[in-house]
Amino acid sequence: MTRLFNIAVIGAGIAGLSCASALQAAGHRVQVFDKSRGASGRMSTRRRADDGWQCDHGAQYFTARDPAFAAEVARWQQAGVAAMWSPRIAVLNDPSYDATSRQPGPLDRFVGTPRMTAPGQWLAGSLDMSLGTTVQRLHRGGPQWQLESAEQGLLDPRFDAVLLALPAPQALALTESPAPALAAVAASAQMRGCWALMLQFDSPVDLPFDAAFVNSGPLRWIARDSSKPGRDPGLETWLLHAEAEWSEAHLELPPDEAASLMLAAFAVLGGPAPQTWTAHRWRYADTREPRLDGCLWDDDLRLGLCGDWLNGGKVEGAWLSGQRLAAQLFSGFAATGT
Ligand code: FAD
Repeated sequence: MTRLFNIAVIGAGIAGLSCASALQAAGHRVQVFDKSRGASGRMSTRRRADDGWQCDHGAQYFTARDPAFAAEVARWQQAGVAAMWSPRIAVLNDPSYDATSRQPGPLDRFVGTPRMTAPGQWLAGSLDMSLGTTVQRLHRGGPQWQLESAEQGLLDPRFDAVLLALPAPQALALTESPAPALAAVAASAQMRGCWALMLQFDSPVDLPFDAAFVNSGPLRWIARDSSKPGRDPGLETWLLHAEAEWSEAHLELPPDEAASLMLAAFAVLGGPAPQTWTAHRWRYADTREPRLDGCLWDDDLRLGLCGDWLNGGKVEGAWLSGQRLAAQLFSGFAATGT
């Protein structure tokens, strides 16, 4: 009979939650650690308690091309934590665009409901979560691992395996000392930043689309967040994402300077000035050339890596990467007869 293991998953984004759920379903004891106060990572929503305002400021939507992920999204839909979003979508190349003549091809786009964090929080609800825990170092004593966190120092539990479901630079910091070969792979991934600007309006914005890919200037994507299913349509909210190279070049700008450049670009596209705005800087939004390893697993150390950067990028790639790492563990455990 297969032995059951104590496993630490560090990172409660969709990759870590996917991996932890699969391992827990197989009977292993899994504990998930994240530095944030909530699960979901870059599938993120900014919220305001007093008036219910919210805006997805990380992942905007996800697609499901792989049958396993499509089945998972169907499960999320069944649970009411995801739904299809069918925005009127445009592709803008210059200010004199014709929104109706440049529609991208048909594609099913999904979002979390009532916000992008919902699928991750739903998965986290069945897991043993340790939030507000920034893992700073991994210690190996004999065959087991112990974690050291910034908030609590050395943590008590010992783990048979540690899985890092983190953006590459954060995985690099934790693997450098105990696993230089894994660290070298993490060092090879170049992750890029992204400025996000959330805009609030007190009346509907008169633009002939709900979302647009922007192919020139500082902006890459703009969307009427309030057009997504499950949102309050009375709170007109738009989200602007800056283009990756532009974001990288302007990453150290004060938020108000980045915001004023992005608002000027929105105005060129016909967008009005908002009543209020909030800026967010993503330091590790995407990977310049995501790897295609799927995941990485060192069977001697019992240390593994998963995440979007190892599997083509995006929500679907991250979820599949978590599944692949769980499958690697199963075959590693089976091969060693444990
Ligand atoms: P993450 O979601 O980054 O999860 C990693 C987790 O690790 C985080 O919760 C973090 O808090 C935690 N962590 C980090 N360091 C530590 C530590 N030392 N200790 C403890 N915890 C730690 N994808 C799409 O499919 N469609 C889109 O439209 C889309 N748009 C995007 C737009 C932006 C601006 C951004 C930022 C991302 C976008 N993505 C999009 C990408 C998508 O969000 C990611 O591919 C996916 O969410 C990555 O999941 P992950 O689990 O690999 O990583």
